[in-house]
Amino acid sequence: MKFVDNPEAAVRAAAKDMLRRGLVEGTAGNISARRSDGNLVITPSSVDYADMVLEDLVLVDPEGAVLQAKDGRMPSTEMKLHLACYEAFDDIGSVIHSHPVWATMFAIARESIPACIDEFAVYCGGDVRCTEYAASGTPEVGINAVKALDGRGAALIANHGLVAVGPRPDKVLHITALVERTAQIVWGARALGGPVPIPEDVNRNFAGVYSYLRANPR
Ligand SMILES: [Zn+2]
Repeated sequence: MKFVDNPEAAVRAAAKDMLRRGLVEGTAGNISARRSDGNLVITPSSVDYADMVLEDLVLVDPEGAVLQAKDGRMPSTEMKLHLACYEAFDDIGSVIHSHPVWATMFAIARESIPACIDEFAVYCGGDVRCTEYAASGTPEVGINAVKALDGRGAALIANHGLVAVGPRPDKVLHITALVERTAQIVWGARALGGPVPIPEDVNRNFAGVYSYLRANPR
């Protein structure tokens, strides 16, 4: 089972960085990390990332029961999505859910973001797929996300946003930012006649690097 060293500090640092990079607004979006004991550290619901301190983070067990929370803080309302990812993928240590504008445009159109920039597949494993639709907060969001995440570092959540997975919060934030940037670029490329695909064998090799790095994170 993959876990994160010093998960509280890693989650808080990634939360601040996510806000700084404009990938999230106010209290939207959430970050979690797996501890060595299998429990999860997750950002609380309704606490602005700008004001968040380590004590605001909530500790839950793999079924979502709250083990530790300051002043009745609640785990993110989208915790079930995080739990489903950890249960399905033993090789991840962190999950980030966000609502960045360009990626969410693809999620609303229910279109994949194509792996049309060199090395995109190194970080994401291939095209970033969109899930089947499920209403926010229901367990089906997680079930559908796990399907779309098969062999991938990220998936679009239909009519909602983005989820990304990986070994550590900083790496998962990097995937989140890369997917958002690529969504914006693909949108622009379509105005110029549409992206020209990367040769399939090249993307296959890049995806092989992704699989290797996922099994052997640095
Ligand atoms: Zn959301």
